[in-house]
Amino acid sequence: MMERLFDAHTHLGFIEGAYTAAVSVSNTADWPLALVLRAKGMIALSFGVHPWGADCEMPENMYELCAQADAVGEIGMDSVWCKVDMARQRAVFAAQLELAQNLRKPVVLHTKGCEPEIAEMISAYNLPFLVHWYSCETIYSSFLRKNILFSVGPDVAKNPAVQNVAKTIPLSRLMLETDGREGISWSLGLELNPEDVLRSIAQTIAGLRGISVDAVLDATYMNAAKFYNYQVTSGICD
Ligand SMILES: [Zn+2]
Repeated sequence: MMERLFDAHTHLGFIEGAYTAAVSVSNTADWPLALVLRAKGMIALSFGVHPWGADCEMPENMYELCAQADAVGEIGMDSVWCKVDMARQRAVFAAQLELAQNLRKPVVLHTKGCEPEIAEMISAYNLPFLVHWYSCETIYSSFLRKNILFSVGPDVAKNPAVQNVAKTIPLSRLMLETDGREGISWSLGLELNPEDVLRSIAQTIAGLRGISVDAVLDATYMNAAKFYNYQVTSGICD
């Protein structure tokens, strides 16, 4: 059987065609290219104003862009790697949560340093959420609801907080992600092929849970395909 690999969170610049990928776009200028790639059947797409860009105006056609996307994201807040005023970040995040609710779209979350507040904010919404590369030592209880999924990032072999997610969140709610080439080189200090990185994340998860790598690859593929409503030909996504 063909191996299923799904990168549940990456950015433009990923390697086309080697695996299935969900690409987060935050810049309207990149959207036409992203739509072309999706039309070729290679990717799922999300659109959202990243917390790092929350000090700019939201695009005027935000509603239309998110309506075209498979998910809204990545959106959220960041008190660690970002200097944008927190009140501004919160307002932009809240507006996009409302937008996702109106469109009934799944949401990809960036939570760095703001995990408890985001856990609280999203508890009012019953949408599917993907918490991307969660790396907080505490997994707050409102993240444990079953509509909340987690993607495990490239540093799982060395980051205890990421290992905690990989071990304790049910397999039915886990995905794999690279966060793009920059995510790989930033976290591992190496330029690696994303496909190899996804496989090695799956191997680490399998080791931590005492299950087979195939079980991890199949489950994470199916979880990501369902989350993004990605059309798979084999009918695994019902
Ligand atoms: Zn990202």
